[in-house]
Amino acid sequence: MNAAYVLQSGPDPFQAVNDVLNSPYVRIGFWLVASFFVVLWLSLAYWTFVDADRRGAARFFWGGVAFVFPFMGTLIYLIVRPPEYILDSRERELDLAVLEREIKHRVDLCPNCRSIVEKDYLLCPECDRDLKKLCEGCDRPLELSWGTCPYCAMVQSNKNVSR
Ligand SMILES: [Zn+2]
Ligand SMILES: [Zn+2]
Repeated sequence: MNAAYVLQSGPDPFQAVNDVLNSPYVRIGFWLVASFFVVLWLSLAYWTFVDADRRGAARFFWGGVAFVFPFMGTLIYLIVRPPEYILDSRERELDLAVLEREIKHRVDLCPNCRSIVEKDYLLCPECDRDLKKLCEGCDRPLELSWGTCPYCAMVQSNKNVSR
């Protein structure tokens, strides 16, 4: 026991506090709180490891940091971690690729003046060059070189090819 407590006489408030602190219930309570924090710390370290992996960060480094510096390590990781999952960024790249493809499919360049023309333009609005001919059967725009319409299988007489 602390010497300061022994010197005091009469009802000792510190002794009362000491008794409370030494009671089994309080001890169990401390144990529970302490183990709660240990579990929280280990879960956070594990979560940091997994999250760093998903975001393409150095998972062993960040998992280690979160383990060695309880709570603070995870907090620092939360501040500097990459903003998005690898899957998300891959998905976005894929979306961009699809969009690019779509644009390429719908849009063409005039072979004469290089201005942007839509795929179904019959002539270039900038230089008047013929780009497509209309199918004689179904009126769809066809390449000038096509002899047969791929939509309705009508053989073209090529009379409206002009150059
Ligand atoms: Zn043109
Ligand atoms: Zn046709």
